[in-house]
Amino acid sequence: MKITINNSILELVVGDITKEETEAIVNAANSGLRGGGGVDGAIHRAGGPQIMEECRKIGGCPTGNAVITSGGCLKAKYVIHAVGPVYHGGEMGEAELLASAYQNSLKRASENSIRNISFPSLSTGAYGYPFDEAAPVALKTVIEYLKRHDEIGQVRFVLFGADAYRAYESALRGI
Ligand code: ADP
Repeated sequence: MKITINNSILELVVGDITKEETEAIVNAANSGLRGGGGVDGAIHRAGGPQIMEECRKIGGCPTGNAVITSGGCLKAKYVIHAVGPVYHGGEMGEAELLASAYQNSLKRASENSIRNISFPSLSTGAYGYPFDEAAPVALKTVIEYLKRHDEIGQVRFVLFGADAYRAYESALRGI
C-alpha cells in the first residue's frame, strides 16, 4: 500500500529491512546500543562489525531518541538506531515515547540530508508493543512529519510478516 503526503511517498511493504536500498534504514535498538535479537541482531549480522564499533563510540541512546551510524556493508548508507519503549500496558507514556522515537529518527535523517528511509515496526517484537496499538502511533507520527518536511521524499515501513502488514494497512486506512 502506498499513499502520497504533499510531495512525499509513504509505503507499506512486507520484507526484511536488511535488504532495503533506501539511503537509511532504522534499527530497533536498545538504550545501550549493544545489539541483541530481532531486527537489531539481523542488522548487525548483515552490516558487519563497523556498525557496532560506531555504536560503542556513541555509547548509548535514551528511550525515545535516535542516533546515526554508517551502514557498514549494508546497501543502506546509514543506520539510524532508534530506541522505542518497552510496553507495560499502555499507561506508562509508551505512545509518547514511541512517537518520539519515530520523530527523532526522521530528524536524524533530515539533518543528514537523507531523502529516503525505511523503518521496521519499532517496539513490537521483544518490547511487546501490540501491532494494532503501535501502528497508528507510528503512521500518524510519520505523516505529521512528512507534512512539515518535504526534504524527506519517501518513507517505507518494512513489515516482517503478514500480521504486521495487516495491522499497519488497517491503521493507515483508518487515519
Ligand atoms: P523491539 O525490541 O523494539 O521490540 P524487535 O527487533 O524485537 O525490536 O522487533 C521489532 C519488529 O521488527 C518486530 O515486529 C519484528 O517482527 C520485526 N523484525 C524482526 N526482524 C526483522 C527484519 N529483518 N526486518 C524487518 N523487521 C524485522
